[in-house]
Amino acid sequence: MNNDTMTYREGVKYLMRSWKLLFKYCPGLFISTILYSLIVAAIPLVEVWLSARILNELAASRRPHELMRLVLAQLIVSAVLAVARAVLLRWKNCEKDAFAHMKDRIYAEKMMGMDYEDIDRQYVYDLYSQILQNDNWSGWGLDASMCRIEDLFTALMRILGGVGLSVTLFLSRVSPSSPFAWLDHPLCIVGIIAVLLFVTIASSSCANRGNACWSRHSEEALFGNRSFVFYGYMSVERKRAADLRIYGQQKNVCDIYMEKNDTFSVNSAIAKDFRGAAGLWKALASGLSAVLTGAVYLFVCLKAWAGAFGAGSVAQYVGAITSLFLGLSDFFRTMGDIRLNGTYLRTTFEFLDIPNKMYKGSLTTEKRSDRQYDVEFRDVSFKYPGSDAYALRHVNMKFKVGSRMAVVGMNGSGKTTFIKLLCRLYDPTEGEILLNGIDIRKYRYDDYIRIFSVVFQDFQLFAMPLGQNVAGTREYDPENVRDCLKKAGFDDRLGAMPRGLDTWLYKDLDKEGVEISGGEAQKIAIARALYKDAPFIILDEPTAALDPIAEAEIYSKFNDIVEDKTAVYISHRLSSCKFCDEILVFHEGSIVQQGSHETLVADKNGKYYELWNAQAQYYTE
Ligand code: ADP
Repeated sequence: MNNDTMTYREGVKYLMRSWKLLFKYCPGLFISTILYSLIVAAIPLVEVWLSARILNELAASRRPHELMRLVLAQLIVSAVLAVARAVLLRWKNCEKDAFAHMKDRIYAEKMMGMDYEDIDRQYVYDLYSQILQNDNWSGWGLDASMCRIEDLFTALMRILGGVGLSVTLFLSRVSPSSPFAWLDHPLCIVGIIAVLLFVTIASSSCANRGNACWSRHSEEALFGNRSFVFYGYMSVERKRAADLRIYGQQKNVCDIYMEKNDTFSVNSAIAKDFRGAAGLWKALASGLSAVLTGAVYLFVCLKAWAGAFGAGSVAQYVGAITSLFLGLSDFFRTMGDIRLNGTYLRTTFEFLDIPNKMYKGSLTTEKRSDRQYDVEFRDVSFKYPGSDAYALRHVNMKFKVGSRMAVVGMNGSGKTTFIKLLCRLYDPTEGEILLNGIDIRKYRYDDYIRIFSVVFQDFQLFAMPLGQNVAGTREYDPENVRDCLKKAGFDDRLGAMPRGLDTWLYKDLDKEGVEISGGEAQKIAIARALYKDAPFIILDEPTAALDPIAEAEIYSKFNDIVEDKTAVYISHRLSSCKFCDEILVFHEGSIVQQGSHETLVADKNGKYYELWNAQAQYYTE
């Protein structure tokens, strides 16, 4: 990542955009951070001003009554400000904890609302993982935008307070007969201000050059973080544990990690840079600020010595100018950070700005109790995004309402793609899909998707109670859930679960959670599809992980299970499809045959006959 391509103006533009977004999600954090920054910057200024009053009184008139009043004021103001600071800090910290979740929510909402075809793209995945890596590497991105609120408001308060408290330094005059009368000469004052500005800018620019080290090494750091996450967690991941043991790969994994990941070691380029150029720039920045403090002390003390003001005011002016210097250098450094962070925010917004290209209409699907939903593919062809090859070609077919339809074919023949188009995860490249005679693009998406229950081959269950997994909601009808689990053949296992439907799946979030086998998971997924009670039920390789007895059990009562729904199965086992009313045979993206098992198997030149015979070697009918 190169921040040379980012101007300050662009950096500020990205910052403003990110603030707008963050304000929408966490207004409390904004307000608490601004108030906290202002008070943190104001406290030393108020204290130095009051202390100066006390010291001046002590050095001059020493009036006990006045002293008592000033000390009391000092005590009360300090106590009130300290309490206010503590309250604001607590408020800010609570909001900050919530912010971590909010950030996840921003990305999660984007992912959930994105076109399905975009989620599949490597480019989108890379952008998202880059955002996470930038955040992990050093809080770049939205986190850094949040920190800039504190930086900018603190700097602003310091500058304003510093100017306010140091104006009288230049206005109070040395006696004209003093040998230091030249201190009041306009040229001297201009000179002092010029030195102050020069050192401030030089010191901030040195600090920014030192900080540029972060962006110089961001590519390596990203790689370092990525390989740390991959190799570092590989050996503690349960799913890889067996393979690692059987093939003795632990040592190899460690060696590869050490070899590949030199990013954060003492000899890494980052460490060398911080010991070398970056370190020197930062040291120079600190050195310059020390020179400035010396110059300020000299000027203020000389004026006090020459009688322009009392000893107490020395503390006030030194404090004020230090505050002004700190404020200005914080401001310039923050501007550098804003520019630097702009490059990271650019990635964040590139991700958040991915447009939804899929047209979503506004028609609602009729709620029909007779489940008469006619779906038709009319000359549908489809290429996956970024691919030149057609995954489906000229598919024409009509679903018969209430029928059982099987989709068979060799691997890669287009079966799953056909289902994904049916569920509108993708839109056809050519042709159209119609629901009751109307193009499915014209329906509201959430409404259209409601008519399908699908058990995908790579379905996912969640670490949450069994009942909620099946129902998909916290509130559900337990009798209905039990009934669906029973239909899917899970009732014996459910009976053995001490907490019944409240039993948590997996141990990720509950130490009494249960681990389930692939076959059991598949039964739960089938129960979930049944519970949704959609007019179409689609099972992609529904029984692949089931043992033969469970499979036979499911098929024997299949008609009862799917009731009057239109059922679609994708299966490799042709023997499982015999009972279907209609079988679609896919080959190289096209439907090459369509009919009942008896008619298809009778065609000795057909694809179905070939597949059937190939499998007959393994299954006796
Ligand atoms: P089946 O379900 O019959 O095994 P698929 O529908 O999964 O076949 O695949 C059909 C064709 O589309 C195959 O050539 C496959 O490589 C390709 N394909 C599947 N998914 C993608 C994808 N996400 N991106 C690009 N090509 C894909």
